[in-house]
Amino acid sequence: MAKIIDGKKISGEFLEKLGADVLSLKEKGIVPGLAVIIAGNNSASRVYVRNKIKICTQLGIHSESYNLPEDVSMPELLELIGTLNKKESIHGILPQLPLPSHLDEREVIAAISPKKDVDAFHRENVGAIMIGEYNFLPCTPAGVMELLRAEGIPAQGKNCVVVGRSNIVGKPMAMLLLHENATVTICHSKTKDLPAICKTADILICAIGKAKFFTGDMINPGAVVIDVGMNRDENGKLCGDADFSSCEPVAGYITPVPGGVGPMTIAMLMKNTVTAAARRFAQD
Ligand code: NDP
Repeated sequence: MAKIIDGKKISGEFLEKLGADVLSLKEKGIVPGLAVIIAGNNSASRVYVRNKIKICTQLGIHSESYNLPEDVSMPELLELIGTLNKKESIHGILPQLPLPSHLDEREVIAAISPKKDVDAFHRENVGAIMIGEYNFLPCTPAGVMELLRAEGIPAQGKNCVVVGRSNIVGKPMAMLLLHENATVTICHSKTKDLPAICKTADILICAIGKAKFFTGDMINPGAVVIDVGMNRDENGKLCGDADFSSCEPVAGYITPVPGGVGPMTIAMLMKNTVTAAARRFAQD
């Protein structure tokens, strides 16, 4: 039986400490501010944005939400980003992804000031992460590292297998584990004999977006299973990439979905917003 890593509890404790940082910034006259841009009517995106705004309010972070129509043009979106880049009260800018398909996500991300890029997707921030000299870390991988830290699980010397190589999860996740002196293997859809590689993992990061793909027979007994996936199962219920019922009896630790990595991702976004505000304050 695995220990369940309670992301809700760990993120709650993290946010409580962050709340104190927000207060001390406010005492110095600075209120951290986050602008969230949403284009179109993607219902999942709307839920994510609502949750982010709710946590901002709870923490005393100023938030602004920009709801743009599905057919917003690239120049209109870039103009908004340009305005927010200059806006004093805004320290973080987050375009909720995915954007409608006619918009060029890369160009949108490149238009955000790296100092306000609280998702850490801008190429300047991505490069900084590669060499370990960063101000912001991408929220989901940073949240996973925080979960490991909170559970007292060092990555150093461990065999870590990251399945998924996206720019927002898999690649930066592998880099953060490498910075912690783990031995890292990255797998993807062309990897041969994935189950055998997964079975070598002391820490297995499941980040492919396929419901219940990882089964108990792919897990090294006692391994830490971090399930990043957010999917709907055959009954429309939220579930991860790991088949919880068969993995949990084999693993040593496992994150549930929901209530594992998801809440940590939002907590890291809040942390990045506070960091951006504090850095701005330090420069003034
Ligand atoms: P992407 O679709 O961008 O990337 C998926 C990756 O998984 C790709 O690298 C792909 O390989 C790989 N992959 C797909 N199928 C297989 C397979 N059968 N075997 C091995 N590798 C495979 O997804 P994201 O990285 O954006 O997201 C991954 C999951 O994490 C999703 O469920 C998403 O919803 C969730 N997520 C959760 C967050 C949270 O806060 N909890 C935040 C962000 C994402 P290839 O490159 O070869 O195509």
